[in-house]
Amino acid sequence: MLYKNILKLIGNTPIVAFQDIFIKLELFNLAGSIKDRVALKMIEALVQENKLNKNSTVIEVTSGNTGIAIAMVCAIKRYKCIIIMPNDVTKDKINIIKAYGAKVILTPKKLGFEYAIKYAKKLALKKDFVFLNQFSNPNNPLAHVETALEIIKDMPKLDYLVCGIGSGGTISMLSKTLKEHYPGLCVIGVLPLEEHHQICGIGASITPDVLDLDNVDKIEKVSTKCAFESFNILASNGLLLGLSSAACYNVSKRIKQNNPDKIVLMISADSGMKYLNAFDELV
Ligand code: PMP
Repeated sequence: MLYKNILKLIGNTPIVAFQDIFIKLELFNLAGSIKDRVALKMIEALVQENKLNKNSTVIEVTSGNTGIAIAMVCAIKRYKCIIIMPNDVTKDKINIIKAYGAKVILTPKKLGFEYAIKYAKKLALKKDFVFLNQFSNPNNPLAHVETALEIIKDMPKLDYLVCGIGSGGTISMLSKTLKEHYPGLCVIGVLPLEEHHQICGIGASITPDVLDLDNVDKIEKVSTKCAFESFNILASNGLLLGLSSAACYNVSKRIKQNNPDKIVLMISADSGMKYLNAFDELV
């Protein structure tokens, strides 16, 4: 397949049927996660509003995939980029962001996301600096109108949607849009059970403005142990998915067992490759 525009490698991800559960594989996006869609949408919205110029520096606070995605889009569109992250992120993630040419600033983990956001807001006061702020940027959920349309195109019928909650951008828009199309759709949000967990990407320590739970029917919490068990099941069947995907699979499997005739789709936000170093002993 020939692509003349590199950015067209974001979106249009495949859905695989795995043991009777449908999995939308967002690892197929250019920088490897669902956040590629959001990064592109947030930056293209700024371009349309004439808020970026050739001297602009794009800033974001993130502990992972969003930073990687924004660094990638900035590399393609030639904007400078600063990613602010808590200092407990893995060296791998920092190196991926740096490889795209972005600068990384580490803030103390113990001061939390609130501190990192305050830091970013202060930095954004500088001339030509723009803070994207995925937690309150409406273009985060809006990026998933497209995700929903892709699902509608591929799935003639759908009874359950299972989706992790980080910023909430994905679940907020998918639940709203897909419920309009599939009457009776049940949307399950997935969060980590423990306060201190290893399921990267879900369970943000703040309540994001973009999170809209109006169309979410139920929240299921998954322990790190259960996520690892599901991670191993998926990987040993050829699907090396991230831990938030594993948590979603854990929930999806239970739903399918209790409702064998229903169609269950889960969103897999990324692959498991980035997480292997941190969990050597468990894998
Ligand atoms: N899983 C992973 C691995 C992620 O990086 C994210 C984004 N933080 C999510 C799930 C949740 O996506 P959202 O921010 O749209 O809720």
